[in-house]
Amino acid sequence: MSVPERVRVAVIGAGQAGLSVAFYLRRFELVADEDFVILDRAPGPGGAWQHRWPALRLGTAHRVNDLPGMAELGLSFDTADRSLPAREVIADYYGRYEQHFQLNVHRPVGVRRVSNEGADLLIEYEDLSPQPVEEQRVRGFFGRRRRTFEQPGRPAVPTSELRASFVVNATGTWGSPFVPYYPGMTEFRGRHLHTSDYVDAEDFRDQHVIVVGGGTSAIGFMLELEHVAAELTWVSRRPIDWLDRQELDLEGASAAVAKQDEAARSGRALPSVVSGTGVPKNRRIAAGIERGLLVARPMFERIEADHVVFPDGSTAQADAIIWATGFRPELRHLAPLRLREKSGGVTVGQGAAWNDPRVFLAGYGPQASTVGASRAGRMIARQIMAML
Ligand code: FAD
Repeated sequence: MSVPERVRVAVIGAGQAGLSVAFYLRRFELVADEDFVILDRAPGPGGAWQHRWPALRLGTAHRVNDLPGMAELGLSFDTADRSLPAREVIADYYGRYEQHFQLNVHRPVGVRRVSNEGADLLIEYEDLSPQPVEEQRVRGFFGRRRRTFEQPGRPAVPTSELRASFVVNATGTWGSPFVPYYPGMTEFRGRHLHTSDYVDAEDFRDQHVIVVGGGTSAIGFMLELEHVAAELTWVSRRPIDWLDRQELDLEGASAAVAKQDEAARSGRALPSVVSGTGVPKNRRIAAGIERGLLVARPMFERIEADHVVFPDGSTAQADAIIWATGFRPELRHLAPLRLREKSGGVTVGQGAAWNDPRVFLAGYGPQASTVGASRAGRMIARQIMAML
């Protein structure tokens, strides 16, 4: 099935947010099938979850909410097998969901650029299906992941064009890892990795590892590496705000959601979600605190070739530094639309970009959780219905 040349609504991204919007566009019978398209650059279903490390399980910290209508298939993440990697369960459920609701996702199709073309939006995209490969170039945040397939001396992949009246951008954050700058970063002779580069604890066997970050990913890495690394040091830029709850239902984290919403509505850069929610303590985490593993040191102040230096002058040896320091919304391809404000963010209210009535941002700011992303679908589809 090829991507049409013109549609009324183009959804970019088939994670929780994009699928939810697609579900309601179909449920409300807003647009005929041929007037609606979903593009996703990943090779298979699962949104960002398909890229997460194998040891990550459902319910290790947060609740994963169901997609709208998922009950019709007799599926729920609440009753899913928690002994399997989350990425397998979620890819499987999303795949079945897409089939059941006939959400024909075009993949792997990467959107490179969205720009104005009169009243329309012009979407330039590339087909990322593996081409005959002479050379596989590997690049990533720290030069390790994300493969592009290209032939030397020739453009990586030709781009094609699609025109749409509305664009729903649901591209999440996974492709836009954030690492803060610290003096000495480039002099470090060990390995820098971001959460998005992490694959397996065994990669750190017998090494001195520093884990940076105050959220559930950092805690997960500490627990996984405990009996593998030679020495583990956990540092956080702010004290950990432990909650007495075992699992965080992001719906309940209303203060954090309100903070995100306020920033989005005023066009400011989005604050860290963890800074507003606190960190839940399940039994495994509580035991880790008890035995002294999960005790974060205040952030180091600089990095040297093989160690980090703390403000009090003490040091910790380091073969690898894992930056579990979060993500930013992935919006680079929307740059030609000039949605970004001087204050650093995009002004977004109820999923709508206030600077351009043809553009919606699903899964952005207060919608950046599985519950928010699911809710975004109805909210955005309703607004599109009103405009159509
Ligand atoms: P994604 O799942 O990231 O989907 C975005 C999709 O867009 C991807 O499929 C990607 O391929 C596609 N895409 C991106 N750019 C392009 C492009 N240019 N062209 C085409 N396609 C593109 N939330 C919870 O509620 N509970 C949890 O337990 C939980 N755990 C988390 C654990 C980790 C480690 C992280 C990082 C986040 C976690 N979250 C959790 C947050 C949660 O993942 C998200 O809020 C939600 O799943 C994101 O859905 P999404 O659809 O917005 O984005």
